[in-house]
Amino acid sequence: PLLRADVVTIFPDYLAPLRLSLIGRAIETGLVGLDVHDLRTWTHDRHRTVDDTPYGGGAGMVMRPEPWGAALDALVPPEAEATTRVVVPTPSGRRFTQAVAAELAAEEHLVFACGRYEGIDTRVMAEAATRVRVDEISIGDYVLNGGEAAVLVILEAVVRLLPGVIGNPASLTEESHAAEHDGLLEGPVYTKPTSWRGLDVPPVLLSGNHGAIAAWRREQALEHTRRVRPDLAPAALDGVDGVA
Ligand code: SAM
Repeated sequence: PLLRADVVTIFPDYLAPLRLSLIGRAIETGLVGLDVHDLRTWTHDRHRTVDDTPYGGGAGMVMRPEPWGAALDALVPPEAEATTRVVVPTPSGRRFTQAVAAELAAEEHLVFACGRYEGIDTRVMAEAATRVRVDEISIGDYVLNGGEAAVLVILEAVVRLLPGVIGNPASLTEESHAAEHDGLLEGPVYTKPTSWRGLDVPPVLLSGNHGAIAAWRREQALEHTRRVRPDLAPAALDGVDGVA
């Protein structure tokens, strides 16, 4: 496979949607190797306990370090340390973007550690970071109940970048956030019919003039980005071209 992904979670069924659609086909055809592991496999007590109360008090529970340490030892043996990146979804991580997706798509092995409750005992990733790259990633400024939904998001964004997953690779450079378009948002898109409920397709798109179409799309992308996300692509919005 181009990419192997191991996901550790207390809810393995949560990752089932990865078997659908384009990602599912990438797994079926062997482009991507996916293994989902139940964290409780690495517990040894009768109740298969993964959490306990926080030192220092406070609401909620914290995931105990022992099962996580054992899981990471098993999934990242010494010979795999150099070629593995451990991805930890957390609202306190660096922000997930298209650029981060591209970075992860260049890895050969990703291990995802899905937190629940108030997160994983801090020592787990501190210890792991002494021998393997650990990347704490947030998918946005809001709080989810667990890392599973974040892994669905991250893996979907990463896997579609792998060669052979999307039928027409040009789709990847002709969309929002693509470096090839200076990180701008995509403008409006249309298909048949040319007139629908009194709304017409802009005539330039029917002109067959590829130069004029490209110029119109660029203008629409600039206008749309300026309107909804002026924080994106400031260089392009200043009228400076060619800045990725
Ligand atoms: N106590 C943590 C804090 O305040 O930062 C929040 C824990 S959250 C309730 C439980 C788990 O959901 C986290 O360990 C993480 O795996 C996941 N999670 C929540 N929000 C996330 C986000 N924005 N991005 C990525 N993962 C998130």
